[in-house]
Amino acid sequence: MGIFGKIGAGLKKTRDSILNSVNSMLHSFTRIDEELFEELEEILIMADTGASTAAHICDRVRAKVKERGETDPAKIKGLLAETAAELLRGGQELSLNTCPAVILVIGVNGVGKTTTIGKLAARFRAEGKKVILGAADTFRAAAIEQLEVWADRAGVDLVRHSEGSDPAAVVFDTLAAARARRADIVICDTAGRLHNKKNLMEELAKISRVIERELPGADKEVLLVLDATTGQNAVNQAREFKNAAGITGIVLTKLDGTARGGVVLAIREELDVPVKFVGVGEGVDDLMPFDPEAFAGGLFAEEEPA
Ligand code: GDP
Repeated sequence: MGIFGKIGAGLKKTRDSILNSVNSMLHSFTRIDEELFEELEEILIMADTGASTAAHICDRVRAKVKERGETDPAKIKGLLAETAAELLRGGQELSLNTCPAVILVIGVNGVGKTTTIGKLAARFRAEGKKVILGAADTFRAAAIEQLEVWADRAGVDLVRHSEGSDPAAVVFDTLAAARARRADIVICDTAGRLHNKKNLMEELAKISRVIERELPGADKEVLLVLDATTGQNAVNQAREFKNAAGITGIVLTKLDGTARGGVVLAIREELDVPVKFVGVGEGVDDLMPFDPEAFAGGLFAEEEPA
């Protein structure tokens, strides 16, 4: 692993794409001028940062250039990394201090929700915490079974009902089990279908009410799982869920499989929701707490990730 470790490896495709474009663009300039910024903005848009975020980043880099009297195009990459880190910094920590604390995991089917829950469970368990999973995506039998596989893999308990049962009842039983077994962390899966959005949002609200009632005062995180390979579509999903579900953070999966990692910047800038974890592979260890400095460095700094 290089200096950016696993995050660098997970970012390789995005980095190769952005950095190749930035490098070849910079080679064609001998000084920093407005034309350079125009090309830079285009490169950022191509990397799925979104138009308004690209413009904002360029404005900030422009201001730094002016402030510091920079003239050498070679300095642009460092300024980009600095700017991206500033933009991404803040809110990464999970707030899970009560015992038990609850994580509700939401997101549309296929984004990597089950995998993420399994990875989170394994991570908390490795920290010595007792974890219980609630299989509250009762819409699909396969979802329950898959979560069971991950529970076994992570060595944690799972509470499940049969397919089609009331998700809020699963959550109720999971919380009761958590109290009885003195669990530290409860992680609840939720249904991921969006074709009936009103029902889905009502279901999430009902689950939230059960948690408030059964564990008043407990810390709760609502993590939205998004698939980085879907680029701007992920931003749109985040916007919809943010309006309806009170999300506290984002897990961005499949960063390893895409050149669209710039979407992290768009999510932060356009929605003001922190990315808390990133998925960089299918294995149980392939979930990284999001580190803004490492991410920004991995995107724009010179060192090659391993
Ligand atoms: P769900 O329908 O949202 O629960 O999605 P799953 O957890 O079943 O994941 C869907 C697919 O994405 C599976 O093949 C996972 O192995 C894969 N996947 C999930 N997270 C990642 C990731 O971070 N990187 C890669 N490369 N694949 C992932």
